This record gives sequence, C-alpha cells and structure tokens, in this order.
Amino acid sequence: MVASGELYAGTAGWAGQIGHIPVRPDGLACGCGQRGCLAAYASGSAVAARCGMPGAEDVVRLAAQGDARAAAVWGEAVEALALALATYTLVADPAAVVIGGGVSLAGDALVAPLRERLAARLAFRPAPAVRVSRLGPLAGLLGAGLLGRRAAGAA
Ligand SMILES: [Zn+2]
Repeated sequence: MVASGELYAGTAGWAGQIGHIPVRPDGLACGCGQRGCLAAYASGSAVAARCGMPGAEDVVRLAAQGDARAAAVWGEAVEALALALATYTLVADPAAVVIGGGVSLAGDALVAPLRERLAARLAFRPAPAVRVSRLGPLAGLLGAGLLGRRAAGAA
C-alpha cells in the first residue's frame, strides 16, 4: 500500500495484502489455510488451476470463445475482486488500485468488467481508478526483492 507517496506496510507488514480478504465464507480452500479468500478465486494461478489451464489469460481466451466453465470461473474471479476491492476502498479510500500478478495478464478483459462491478458496488461514493501494473506477473517478485533489499539496509 502506498500512502502519501510512501510504502505503508502496517504493523505486521501486511497492509494492502488483499489476497486473503474473505469473499465467500466457507468457500474454496486457500494456500494460507483459510477458506473463501480472494486469492482462491482471483489469483492468476487459482483461475488457471480451476480450469486446468496454464494461465489466467488462457481462461479468458476460452471464456471469450464461449466455454461455459471458463466464463463462470472468470466471472467469479472478477466478482470476487470487485467485492474485495470495494471492502478495501471503504477502509483505505485509495485514489487507485493497481492489479498485478498473473491475473493482470488478462488486461482489458479484467479491467473493464472490474471497473463496472466496482463502480456498482460503490455507487454511493466515488470508486478508485483501476489500472493494471506494467510489471504484470513480476510485480510481487520485484516487490519482495525490494523489501529484502530495504531490510538489508541497502535501500
Ligand atoms: Zn488465504
């Protein structure tokens, strides 16, 4: 999370880590040990695995070709992301949310419906801008590297 131009990590280093926001009580199992987390529905790897495909962009392509399973999984991913981002927006009131990771490779197939669903969930107030990270699936890896560098005192 970036606040006033600075990285804000929170007291335990998890600020802005929305992947484990619950979007469905008793939903799909997540790698964190809980159930119903956003990551279980909307991470690129989860979307791909749910359809037996290598990447989320493959699921998007199948959905566009009329594959019902891919369309359902992708629709659930977008809705879960809109729900989590609406929750996050009500807590943090961000100017923008930037989507990285494997799911960001879906590009406009993600951003357009996500903007629409987020705006609908936040119809009573302004919605944040929704953008895709230029770093795509490397965003998390680069962020982890920069955190390690900072922890080592090199930043
Ligand atoms: Zn989780």
